[in-house]
Amino acid sequence: MPCDHTRTVNHNGAAIVMSEQSQWFSEAEQRDWQWRLTVANHNNIFCHCHACGREWIDSTDDAGCTCGSDRVEHIACWQFPDD
Ligand SMILES: [Zn+2]
Repeated sequence: MPCDHTRTVNHNGAAIVMSEQSQWFSEAEQRDWQWRLTVANHNNIFCHCHACGREWIDSTDDAGCTCGSDRVEHIACWQFPDD
């Protein structure tokens, strides 16, 4: 996952009055985010095999190469690599 969202923590011990809807991520919003990721990944994962040099586009980030190697680099086209 590209993002690691942290919940707001109250450091001074005061009571935080929040409705369910005002929390950082509701369950429905998490499902919505997962769905958005799935859609964004669809035919958008650039795969590069380090064994045979094959390059292709896939929809999952755990696809292996047809040569049988699992030394495959996966880059989501909709995000920039960390380096
Ligand atoms: Zn290969």
